[in-house]
Amino acid sequence: MDKADREKYKKNLLEKKEAIIAKLSEVYNESKEVESGIAQDIVDRAESSYTKEFLLSLSDTERAQLFMIDEALRRIEKNEFGICQMCGKNISKKRLDAVPWSPYCIECQEKSEEES
Ligand SMILES: [Zn+2]
Repeated sequence: MDKADREKYKKNLLEKKEAIIAKLSEVYNESKEVESGIAQDIVDRAESSYTKEFLLSLSDTERAQLFMIDEALRRIEKNEFGICQMCGKNISKKRLDAVPWSPYCIECQEKSEEES
């Protein structure tokens, strides 16, 4: 993947992240339910109490998506973006265009869905 592509996906990811945060900021004060499980894992990584509170206000889906976007952004920085985290093959551009935060190629994604 060349630099221009990486920049493009990075921009996509940042826009998506901002959209989630903007949407959730609106409901931020309405839901402060403390959840366990995956929520706690991410909250443990959060540095400030504001971030913690914010993360606790997200739904599981939104939290998971935000988490995956952050992971994808990290892979861009490490120059690993677009590489399947399971088998190491390149993820197709078509797939990255549709789901830029996807950590797996389509084959591995299907495999993990079959297993669960
Ligand atoms: Zn794979």
